[in-house]
Amino acid sequence: MMEMMLGVRGVHVIGIDDEVKVLRVVVETPANEAVCPQCATSAELFDRPTRDLAGEPVFGRELVFEWHVRRWRCPNHRCETDTWDEELPLVGSAQWREARE
Ligand SMILES: [Zn+2]
Repeated sequence: MMEMMLGVRGVHVIGIDDEVKVLRVVVETPANEAVCPQCATSAELFDRPTRDLAGEPVFGRELVFEWHVRRWRCPNHRCETDTWDEELPLVGSAQWREARE
């Protein structure tokens, strides 16, 4: 429901932080497993860094998506891939951009 209201698809809204000037929406992708892009070994979850992405303002307030990125690690010691971040399908579209500092 919230996903539709905010016009985002392909992500799960896991929290809303209703600040005075900013509506902060905490999101994650539904992808809870991954394989190494190089050797196809099942990846281990390594970290959950966050990235702020700006959406179109809603109701006169700034909209910020706080994306909890999944950083994966390849457990295969013979593989050259170490860690990588998942991609958010919406990043790079007109609607989502890196939030200003
Ligand atoms: Zn690998």
